[in-house]
Amino acid sequence: MGPNSDTIAALATPVGTSALAVVRASGPACGALAEAIVGRPPTARVAVHTDYRDPSGRLIDDVVATFFQGPNSYTGEDSLEVTCHGNPFVAQALLEDLWRRGCRPAEPGEFTRRAFLNGRLDLSQAEAVMDVIHARSERALAAAHRLLRGGLGEHLARLTDGLLQALAQIEAYIDFPEEDLPPEDRRRVSGQIADVLRGTQRLLATQHYGEVLRDGLKTVIVGEPNAGKSSLLNRLVGRERAIVSEVPGTTRDFLEERLLVGPHCLRLIDTAGLNPAPERLERLGMAKTMERLEEADLVLLVVDATASWPGLPWDLPEKSPLGRWILVQNKTDLLGGRPPPPPPTPWAGLPAVALSALSGEGIENLTDLIVKKADALGVELGDEGVAINARHADALRRAGDGLAAAARKLPEGAPLELVASDLREALDAYGEIGGRIDNEQMLDRLFATFCIGK
Ligand code: GDP
Repeated sequence: MGPNSDTIAALATPVGTSALAVVRASGPACGALAEAIVGRPPTARVAVHTDYRDPSGRLIDDVVATFFQGPNSYTGEDSLEVTCHGNPFVAQALLEDLWRRGCRPAEPGEFTRRAFLNGRLDLSQAEAVMDVIHARSERALAAAHRLLRGGLGEHLARLTDGLLQALAQIEAYIDFPEEDLPPEDRRRVSGQIADVLRGTQRLLATQHYGEVLRDGLKTVIVGEPNAGKSSLLNRLVGRERAIVSEVPGTTRDFLEERLLVGPHCLRLIDTAGLNPAPERLERLGMAKTMERLEEADLVLLVVDATASWPGLPWDLPEKSPLGRWILVQNKTDLLGGRPPPPPPTPWAGLPAVALSALSGEGIENLTDLIVKKADALGVELGDEGVAINARHADALRRAGDGLAAAARKLPEGAPLELVASDLREALDAYGEIGGRIDNEQMLDRLFATFCIGK
């Protein structure tokens, strides 16, 4: 694809009142634009404080203009950034002036798309730009930065390398049809392919944590009616949101709140109370609770520590592995200093926190435990350090299928052409992740999710 002949411009900061706003442009006209605005040929990467006037001489604002000479810019093209006062009228007037001077409005993600097309970023890094902008927690931001710095590309380069080595040996024999790869070589190459497959599966295993990072840790609060679930949610969120009521069983619909707990983002979900003998209406709520449990990364089981152990549905541990549960023994303010009663099996083994959702006493012990559990999930990342997204996972799964097929066929003495074709499918799938593809539609879809000005 050749260089872009048009110059795009957009507001790079949110529309609204702020201290500063940044308008940016990218494309071949930027050098001439910078000269017209500043009044002299621009020096790259030097910020110039100047009056921004339209061609008729009318003052729009005093601004700081910075010219970037391609390829040393975000997009890889000549670019211009103009920082003005953060008044939406000023930013709009400035933009309209740029449009009158021949720029056209940028489409969503078009700056990053150009950066990708000019080889400044691979596709996984372009996605990481969005991850960095939208990261909701410290951990999510760290993972996004690793992705932006090419963390995934490095892993893929290693896997691609291993795959190419195997493919080269096979293709060498395809070129000499009178010879066949000796059985011991077939086994050896098959072993190499299995190594690459294992590396692919290790990357695939990071998808779940990737979802946790991008969406938040799905944390479901369960317990009998009146145990204090809504009170705990309110206490954790730090403001009144859930309806706290003294009538048992009022939280029929789910309340969901996103909140930060230490370096993690939680999607905290309050559920209808669990009752071993539910009435008709309650039964509906409980069925939904069970569904939520199945998707949960973390379950907070809230019990009233002043009451006897609740009769919980016997199949709870089947819905979610007990390793994901934390027992919250609530209402310690009413215990008068006595320890909460020990839970029966199978709940006795759960990590437990005694607290008062009412007074807030002991709540830090719970948040500490939540952080520990969430970090333990992050261990899934292993040495990979990057957490993949659904698009990467789809490509990696297809790569894995090709590799598995090749590793299976090779020792069976299958024709080498078939093995090579499986391996090439895997190679193409790896290529898709970094963007070595020829698929305009896919690029349109991906960059359409960006914001304008990015
Ligand atoms: P849910 O049905 O499990 O959501 O329970 P709620 O949060 O609605 O609480 C039920 C009742 O228990 C309300 O009257 C709360 O004020 C009370 N409650 C909740 N947590 C505590 C606590 O830690 N100490 C005391 N004393 N009362 C609590």
